[in-house]
Amino acid sequence: MTPIALLPWSEIRVVLLDMDGTMLDLHFDDVFFRRTVPEAYARKHGIGFERAREIVLTAYQEHRGTLAWYDLDHWSARLGLDIPLLKEEVAHLIRVHPHVLPFLERVRASGRPIHLVTNAHAHSLGMKLARTPIGPYLTSAITSHEVGWAKEQLPFWPLLAQRLGFDPGATVLVDDSEPVLEAASRFGIAHLRQVVNPSSGAPPNPVGRFPAVMDFRDLGLPNGCSRRE
Ligand SMILES: [Mg+2]
Repeated sequence: MTPIALLPWSEIRVVLLDMDGTMLDLHFDDVFFRRTVPEAYARKHGIGFERAREIVLTAYQEHRGTLAWYDLDHWSARLGLDIPLLKEEVAHLIRVHPHVLPFLERVRASGRPIHLVTNAHAHSLGMKLARTPIGPYLTSAITSHEVGWAKEQLPFWPLLAQRLGFDPGATVLVDDSEPVLEAASRFGIAHLRQVVNPSSGAPPNPVGRFPAVMDFRDLGLPNGCSRRE
């Protein structure tokens, strides 16, 4: 077991949190992209599920790590399916990971701003905020579509810092994507944690170069009274 590296909260003034796989269970997205979309594609084109899955997964590979990959309008047009409507079919799987809400509660009580920073499309973001109780804890929610770059892409981070006005040396980012953490690290975000257990429907990911978080208890908690804005 890797020792847990609790965050040095006295050095942290701003908290950036990813949404899918970090605060929310990635099982929803996995089921949606790997099962719901290929099933709908198979129905539409009168082909078998396996063939449809192959076509859809190949299409996903084309744009991985770019804004287009996260753009529901792109997928609706590319696959000829109403992607937002299909998401409603599996919306009951949208869930907050255990131990996230007490963490949000304590960080908010400490006075630190909490920004949700996601590659998700505005429609997915709206859908997830409407179906989970995380919204009221957030200072803001920003999608990479608003910034113009995906989080894996280097220009995203200085643009985000400019927009939110944070000092990267006093900021923590919690994310389940190693390429995203790499980009944030290269920009200079000082405190980085990787959620290695993003989906309740899959085994944990191997621990990489960033300190691993199995669940939000591994982040530790700030003292309730330290307002440091
Ligand atoms: Mg994620």
